[in-house]
Amino acid sequence: MIHSVKCNRDCIGCGNCERTCKGIFRLTYTVHAEAVGRDYEKHHKQLLNAYYSCPVQAIELEGDDPSLQISWYKALIIEKTPVSNTAMEVRLKTALNEFKPGQYVTVRFKDDIGYFNRAYSIVDMRDGTVTLCVTLVQGGRGSSFFVNYEVGGEVEVTEPKGGFCLQETKNPKVFVGTGTGVAPLVAMIESCPDVKKTLYFGQRKEKDLFYLDRLAKIPNLDVYTCLDFADDDWAGLRGRVTDHFLNYPLTKDTEVYTCGSDPMMNGLRDILKKKRHPAKLFFKESFASGAAPGASESSLLWRTCVRNLHIYASLAMSVLFLFFGLSGFLASRPSLFNSETRFEVPENIQIEQAELCGYLKAKLPAGVVAKDFSLQNESASIRFEDMAGGRFDVAVSLPDRSYTVTESHVLPADSDSRTGLQLAQELARKYSGKLDAGSVEDGKEKIQFNVESVWANTAVVVDKTQKRYEVHQSKNRLAAALVQLHRGKKSSPVQRVLIDLTGIFMVIATLTGIIMGVQSRNPVMRNTAIILVVVSVVLAAIMMLNR
Ligand code: SF4
Repeated sequence: MIHSVKCNRDCIGCGNCERTCKGIFRLTYTVHAEAVGRDYEKHHKQLLNAYYSCPVQAIELEGDDPSLQISWYKALIIEKTPVSNTAMEVRLKTALNEFKPGQYVTVRFKDDIGYFNRAYSIVDMRDGTVTLCVTLVQGGRGSSFFVNYEVGGEVEVTEPKGGFCLQETKNPKVFVGTGTGVAPLVAMIESCPDVKKTLYFGQRKEKDLFYLDRLAKIPNLDVYTCLDFADDDWAGLRGRVTDHFLNYPLTKDTEVYTCGSDPMMNGLRDILKKKRHPAKLFFKESFASGAAPGASESSLLWRTCVRNLHIYASLAMSVLFLFFGLSGFLASRPSLFNSETRFEVPENIQIEQAELCGYLKAKLPAGVVAKDFSLQNESASIRFEDMAGGRFDVAVSLPDRSYTVTESHVLPADSDSRTGLQLAQELARKYSGKLDAGSVEDGKEKIQFNVESVWANTAVVVDKTQKRYEVHQSKNRLAAALVQLHRGKKSSPVQRVLIDLTGIFMVIATLTGIIMGVQSRNPVMRNTAIILVVVSVVLAAIMMLNR
């Protein structure tokens, strides 16, 4: 019985597990597979097939079934021969003797970082010697290992596996391969000397070609070599190998075998579909000797970086969104806060005119000037005034160093022409709050009302005779600070930094999301990613424009 299934970081995203066992595995946004299904009993057979056929043994199963154990065989490196600019032939001495042409082995290495697995196609296996063809990828972990590891060193291999095998028929066969994807095709071609066959061998440059002498000795074989970047004196084919395959005289029983990059194999499948060639005669290998289709190890690393960048930018962005959401929520609920009417003069401020006035001035609106100062035994009072005739009377209680502020301002010049309610509404706007309509008392000489906002409760008394109004505020400093940070317009430097950081994280998350969405092989994930990206772009634009 299987208890748990997971895919580890060796996964190269070949998609084999998803194709073999859809009920359990899904390819994620980039190149990794995940075990998403939980009904292991229902999918038991397909699950085991996916497990055994994972080219890099990246699927980990836990359970009490002894068949879950993979057998690893010791393999001694006995020869390493570069066969081209980008490929190396490696011969291993093992206890294995049989394989079907087209199969591969998983090789387990141990380097400074730890154990890791790679899959390599078998070119040949006889007399206890396995010959593999390894792509040389600069910085690639598997190829670096083979390049640097001395002859005589030891690795471990699985039994040959994979269902990409030659059909035992006399039908004409055509093989299309790129890169080291040609390696399993060579093994297949050599195993059917009597059958008429053709090989299309695509490479980037002439010095990347390999095994040409070996291929020349095989009877009944036509070889077409095709280069992406050919010198002027190149006599072979140029361009994409699939373009030249179009000229191949397909018959209704031709078997087509392919191994190489994903775009090439998909292009070939489309051509065959258009030509209505039977799908059952098309055989493809979904990985090319140790790398995911169409992806070198360095590109896998690059995609992993993109994914990590996306995850961390999204996390940071989520935290900032959470902050804006929370402060916005609080900003619309003033009743959640206890307001204060008294504030404290810190201990380090001396109770004497210059220092106290300097401290209090910094707490009042900009532009106020201290006019009167009086100090008694138990209290101090200071009046500040601004240019518009506003007064701020501060009363300090010396025993506990607390103080209160009473403001008084001049009414607008045209206040006589307004009703009490209109005046109250205008002043409520000035204090960025909501008028408590029930509190309005419109008398002959005085109008009183309250204004509520999250950072302060403001009681206003308008004296029509004096043409002034007095303001008593009880403030909530925490709420005020949060709201100030939350507000977009007229933002302070701190707010701007927060908003800009959110914008930057959104841009990173969006760009990496676009890259991953476009690269995703799963159409549902791709469409979801694209929708999220569009929403994200719109939100980012709105936020940046309104900051
Ligand atoms: S390497 Fe392929 S088969 Fe193995 S877990 Fe990854 S996607 Fe699945």
